[in-house]
Amino acid sequence: MAYLTLRNVNKIYPNGFHAVHDFNLEAEKGEFIVFVGPSGCGKSTTLRMIAGLEDISKGEFLINGELANQWSPRQREVAMVFQSYALYPNMTVYDNLAFGLNLQGVDEDVIEERVMKTAKILGLTEYLDRMPRALSGGQRQRVAVGRSIIRKVGVFLMDEPLSNLDAKQRVTMRSEITQIHRETGATTIYVTHDQTEAMTMADRIVVMKDGYVQQVGTPRDVYFHPRNMFVAGFIGEPPMNFIRRKVENGCIRIGGRTLDLSRKLGEGIAAYEGREIVFGFRPEAIVLGDMENAYAIQGIVELTEMLGDNANVYMDVDENKAILKVTPHQIPPLDCEIVFSVPVEHVYLFDAETEKVIHA
Ligand code: ATP
Repeated sequence: MAYLTLRNVNKIYPNGFHAVHDFNLEAEKGEFIVFVGPSGCGKSTTLRMIAGLEDISKGEFLINGELANQWSPRQREVAMVFQSYALYPNMTVYDNLAFGLNLQGVDEDVIEERVMKTAKILGLTEYLDRMPRALSGGQRQRVAVGRSIIRKVGVFLMDEPLSNLDAKQRVTMRSEITQIHRETGATTIYVTHDQTEAMTMADRIVVMKDGYVQQVGTPRDVYFHPRNMFVAGFIGEPPMNFIRRKVENGCIRIGGRTLDLSRKLGEGIAAYEGREIVFGFRPEAIVLGDMENAYAIQGIVELTEMLGDNANVYMDVDENKAILKVTPHQIPPLDCEIVFSVPVEHVYLFDAETEKVIHA
């Protein structure tokens, strides 16, 4: 049985704004689930409904199979880490960590044991006597995470916990949180707008837009089998390239070439005759030059970016923009015309009207 179940959960705020529509999810015990999506898509609202900090307007929330809509945050046995650290400024790191356990009346020696263990996991042992103001942002965030993991709860809820850290600290904390999750085995729901965090940390990702779940799947699922253009464009960096074209005689014309879409869709292309279709491919899924069993496309190099281990090439393809990822040794000269190929299996076709992926 799933540990957490959300069944057609909706949030309508008192001002009438419908922030979350029919959210469905079953999270297994120990799973690491990431909610990802642009600002305002309803991630935090959903997390707060799970935490019990926000009423569920419609739908059911179950913990271990029991209806929990009306349970208090305490009954739900969840611990939440917020974006702001919210440490007590006049307490040492030790006391900040111990605070929740003190409130619960836990024995002093048990508290000490748990504080020492948590500090060890988070690399905070040598800072236990310091005040929060004498810590770096990353260290403070670790204390905030520590305050939640020190309590033995079934569920950790984290709302953009790394957003106040610099890029390097974020990468470090990302792997630390994954490690802590492995050690504690607690079910975790983590909110972020950063697709890299979602891809690197999640067992499963929930992609949201405008209050609607777009897709739920493993990082591989959402990357290789996006259901629609939104997911395809949101997951992956640089994003997937899209070129919109009208289908004529089963073909589209892009960058001086005629691409026969029956190679991808078989007879299914007939349904799109005379209609617009979106041809999608990832920047990294190309080969320079002509290649067999691929769609070759011609374009002009507008800009190149050398990134070290790879390079981005910004192309103009019949006034559409496309980005190609190449090795640093393959960077073409500016303004020259080049041909690149997209293997048929790496092409995604979308219905231009519904924006849904078209399956062969
Ligand atoms: P962010 O990444 O910016 O935190 P989010 O995906 O977490 O965004 P939410 O905070 O869940 O988004 O907000 C979802 C929508 O609900 C937004 O449009 C927001 O303006 C709206 N909203 C949030 N709180 C309230 C409220 N108390 N009353 C009315 N609308 C609200």
